[in-house]
This record gives sequence, structure tokens and C-alpha cells, in this order.
Amino acid sequence: MERLHTVDEEYMALLERAYRLVTPKAQRRAELPRVEVENQPRKTFIKNFGQIAKRLNRDVYLMAKFFQKELAVPGTIDGDVFILHGEKSPKVVEAVYERYIRLYVVCPVCNSIDTTLEKGERIYLLKCLACGASTPLKVI
Ligand SMILES: [Zn+2]
Repeated sequence: MERLHTVDEEYMALLERAYRLVTPKAQRRAELPRVEVENQPRKTFIKNFGQIAKRLNRDVYLMAKFFQKELAVPGTIDGDVFILHGEKSPKVVEAVYERYIRLYVVCPVCNSIDTTLEKGERIYLLKCLACGASTPLKVI
């Protein structure tokens, strides 16, 4: 006798299929959003900062803090735009962005970029949504 699929099984199969379609693409590092940098005298605008933070599942203020520290300039968040109060070339900003991804986004176990950062007491936990690994990181 042929077994009938329950709604739950069908739903799970659907989810699994959707996941397979989405996941390999989302994990590709090459598909990370690029930083859109614009310079003005004594100012640097990262125009898609909010979108990047959203894509990387990161708190926009925590990410901003890292950039300010690395570039040694204060900054302000204005919607999606992050304004650094100092002139930094796009190349320099990109290097900081790369460093942030390497240190706080990429899973050291499987290289996925689909991770979350959870705040602990003295450390952060980098949790990988692809392989499930938890990696403790020093507080930014
Ligand atoms: Zn992983």
C-alpha cells in the first residue's frame, strides 16, 4: 500500500527544497555586497552600510564601532548611510570591510558567511547557520 504524505512531510520537503535553492548561493563569499564608498572633504560616506549589516545579520552599530576603531575616526549612522568624520579612501575602507568579514563573519569551520554574532559576557559567539559551529570571539 502506498503511504500517503502528511501535510507536515510535504511542508518539510518544500522547505528543504527552498533551502537547497537558496543556501549555496547565499554562502558564496563572492556574492557579499560591496561597500559603496564616497569621499567628500574630511568625510567618508559608506552609502550601503545598513544594507550590508542586514545582509550579514550584524548589528549596524557594532559593525560601525569596528570601522571607527580600525580607521581611528568617529562616525555617525544616518539611515543606511554610515558617515565617517575623516577622509578615507575607498581602498582603505574596503580593506577594513574585508578584515571585518574575515574576523567576525566567516565561519572558521566551513567558511560560510551565513552566521550570527551573539553577545556574551566577555566574548562574542559566532554561530554558523550552515554547519552549526559556535566559535568564541573577543569583544570588538
Ligand atoms: Zn560553519
